[in-house]
Order: sequence, then C-alpha cells, then structure tokens
Amino acid sequence: MARPDLRHEANAEGAWYVDERCIDCGTCRDLAPVTFVSLGSQSVVASQPVDPQREQGAWLAAQACPTQSIGTFDHRPRPGRLYPWLLVDGVYDLGFTSPDSFGASAYLAARPEGGLMVDSPRFTAGLVRAVEELGGVAHVLLTHRDDVADAGRWAEHFGARVWVHEHDRSAAPFATDLVRGLEPVDVLPGVRCIPVPGHTRGSVVWALGAVAFTGDSLAWSHGQGDLTAFKGACWHSWPAQLASLERLAAACRPEWVLPGHGARCHLPASELHERLVALVDRERAAA
Ligand code: SF4
Repeated sequence: MARPDLRHEANAEGAWYVDERCIDCGTCRDLAPVTFVSLGSQSVVASQPVDPQREQGAWLAAQACPTQSIGTFDHRPRPGRLYPWLLVDGVYDLGFTSPDSFGASAYLAARPEGGLMVDSPRFTAGLVRAVEELGGVAHVLLTHRDDVADAGRWAEHFGARVWVHEHDRSAAPFATDLVRGLEPVDVLPGVRCIPVPGHTRGSVVWALGAVAFTGDSLAWSHGQGDLTAFKGACWHSWPAQLASLERLAAACRPEWVLPGHGARCHLPASELHERLVALVDRERAAA
C-alpha cells in the first residue's frame, strides 16, 4: 500500500500520487509514460490520469511498483489483481516487480508442456495462485545476474529447472542448467538462448517465436521513440554489448522486445531489425 503520509510534494495535484519510498526504477514510467515522470532520483505523478486507458495504465504501474509507492487519496475501487497481464499469444507480464531486481519486469510464457518464467517477480501468494492457474512453471529462464530476485523460490515451489549463463551463475547458485560460450543454442523446443555479454558478462536474450526477452541488454525508449541500450548501466563492456547486439540482429527476427528495464515494443520484424542495426551503427559512431 502506498503511504499518503509520505506523498512526494512534487506530485501533480489530484488523487494519484507516488510516495517517497520510490527507488526510481522507471517501471511506472515505462508502463504509463504520460502519467509518471522522474525527478532524477524519484518519480512522481506528472499529470493525473484523465481517461480509462490512462487510469488502467496507472493501476498496472501501481501493481508493478517494487516499493508499492503508487496509490490514490480517494481510495477509489481497485480493479482487482491485474497481473498476469496478457501481452501476446500466451505471454504475460507478471507485474509485482521486486526491489531485489530494481523493479525489473518478469514474464510468463504459458505452455501446455509447462510454463517458462523469464526472470522473477516478487514471490507473492496471489501471483503464485495465478501462475498455478496458468499451468505453473517448468523452466525459469534468467536473462542475467541482476534480475534473479525470487527465482529460487519460484523454482522450488514449482519444481522448475533454472537456466542461466555460466558467467552469471554466481548470482543463481541454485541453477540446474548452464548456457556456455557465445553461440546461440536451442535449449528447449522453440526456445533459443542467445548470449549477449555486455550489460553483464553472462547476459543472454531468450527468443521464443516472435518474442525476444532482452533483460537489460535492449529496450524501447519512449523518450527517443526508438530502440535503446543502456550505456550508463553497462557493467561488463560496452564494446562487447554492441558486438552482442550485432550478433543478436543476425540470430533472431522478433516482433516483440520484452525487457527487464526500459519500455517494451511491438513492431514488424523487419522494422525492429532495421532499428537494431541502426542502434548499433549509431552507438559505434558515437563511441
Ligand atoms: S515503479 Fe515505483 S519505485 Fe519504480 S519509479 Fe515508479 S514509483 Fe518509483
């Protein structure tokens, strides 16, 4: 629950507010970019939602916020639990992000043979029940060391296998399966792992049909209106990350980019490919 006694004074006048426990992870701004804005170290409501679509975006942000800092003064009726939130063809945003992953988004691909959880939301009873109703989790696919969060608890609850690149394994010592090297590998039917060292040494992209789960290696930027990568949050090697994104462009042709941090996007595969190639060229030229 958001804390009205801790309401940030810079919130726009009106019912919706962010409290001062915000860690400025950016998740609300990626989900509802018109409503929320960053002041540099914390986010606030920039303009109150004025229509049902923006109100829904604010509720999605509220239920995704890792510090539960988003609320309303008038205690209007809540819409109930919104997550898992269907994005496309059995792929759900799980919301309920964890402060342990700095609010990174996690996803579930529900499949008859057992679901795939990509990175980890908070392990909460309500979300566990919802994931059970969708068929549970057979495999947890970790994109990199920063977004492990409660993956061990999810895996233990569902008896799931856990996949991680060997170079980020120390963050998930409970992992059962390791990806090694730089070559893309099909680890399960229809599930390709593409190593993309850069953000961390063991970063990978998981490709599933038209969807690429990109961790913190690639995202959409509402501000730029384009694909982006986080040079300022690159912990291993920026040149390696650009080389990885170049290999990613050759390894898969997704229509969806679903990141941990940053906004998600859905574009024709050809346009997404062109934007990815252009991003690499642009960043190399700027280096
Ligand atoms: S999602 Fe929560 S913690 Fe993250 S920036 Fe928004 S209000 Fe702050």
